[in-house]
Amino acid sequence: NAPQPVYKRILLKLSGEALMGDDAFGINRTTIERMVTDIAEVVRLGVEVAVVIGGGNIFRGVAGGAEGMDRATADYMGMLATVMNSLALADAMDRQGLTARVMSAIDIQQVVEPYVRPKALQYLEEGKVIVFAAGTGNPFFTTDTAAALRGAEIGAQLVLKATKVDGVYTADPVKDPTATRYTQLSFDEAMVRNLGIMDATAFALCRDQKLPIRVFSINKPGALRRVVVGEDEGTLVYA
Ligand code: UDP
Repeated sequence: NAPQPVYKRILLKLSGEALMGDDAFGINRTTIERMVTDIAEVVRLGVEVAVVIGGGNIFRGVAGGAEGMDRATADYMGMLATVMNSLALADAMDRQGLTARVMSAIDIQQVVEPYVRPKALQYLEEGKVIVFAAGTGNPFFTTDTAAALRGAEIGAQLVLKATKVDGVYTADPVKDPTATRYTQLSFDEAMVRNLGIMDATAFALCRDQKLPIRVFSINKPGALRRVVVGEDEGTLVYA
């Protein structure tokens, strides 16, 4: 018998950069399709999945601000970048036979429907995959914080933070060959060791809500499924 999922509802945070693959900018089609294959696998196991996608592959508010733009304006551009990624992701999901719904934190109703919590909960119960677009809808925040916020709002049992490295390490494994992976650690330990799991706002929200985070590699095919069935994959940060 195939292992069964240990979570009913999860929130997956993908960075915009994850969509680039080996490209320098934008959305790489092969990469996005591979990610959707992994997502489809867990949806077919019966897990309810919501996704928050970043925008860093297109635009980052901090970078815009550093170049002299008004920071809030730059952040709105960053949020619009996440809407583009969300549309691409939902489109790829539909093409692989999933039913995806994009919900935006900023009203752009001709393009995507607005985020309305009861509607989101209904979609999840119906087995639809939600892509939360436009982050939190506020400048000076990040999509990591949107992931923590939406995760808490929809009652997700786990926030999955997809990264390039397959978990949290004692040191940068690229630079230090003696670095080892933590299989799990508490929020307090992660804070004391200053491990930078997510940005401080997102981290604090998850910690307050006792919403565990698992850091794992999205580049490892099948890793998402292994997390969902409770296998040792990545690093669990628990309350
Ligand atoms: N952003 C924002 N508020 C939010 C979420 C995102 O202002 O609630 C903006 C911010 O400028 C950020 C950009 O959108 O740089 C893209 O999001 P993020 O950097 O989190 O994307 P990622 O690093 O995950 O690709």
